Amino acid sequence: MKYGAERAICSGDTEHGQHFTAARISSFDHTHANDRIVLRSIVDFWWAPFDDAKRDQQAVAPTKAPWIRLHLGYSCPHRDEAGKESIQTNLVRPYGLTCTHCETVMAVNAEAPTIRLLS
Ligand SMILES: [Zn+2]
Repeated sequence: MKYGAERAICSGDTEHGQHFTAARISSFDHTHANDRIVLRSIVDFWWAPFDDAKRDQQAVAPTKAPWIRLHLGYSCPHRDEAGKESIQTNLVRPYGLTCTHCETVMAVNAEAPTIRLLS
């Protein structure tokens, strides 16, 4: 997903490839609270039953505790280069996101992303 895009791309797998899916980032912002920056993103995802070709079975609707991964982009403070790191729900925390160019700790992920499913 990319902020502003009207649809998302499911990465699929090497055999079946990528395809579009009905999801989007409808809101993305940040606030400062207790010396922390809190990122907030609202993702709209319209799930409908489908055949999961990768696993050759009927797909399962998102559960009450879905697993997610968030990719975060950054600019290296020491070089004129961009980088990308990711966090996911099941990491051991606190988790330091380090720059791939200079090993600077760019951020510390203290809490798992929270997910609120609407029905
Ligand atoms: Zn760096």
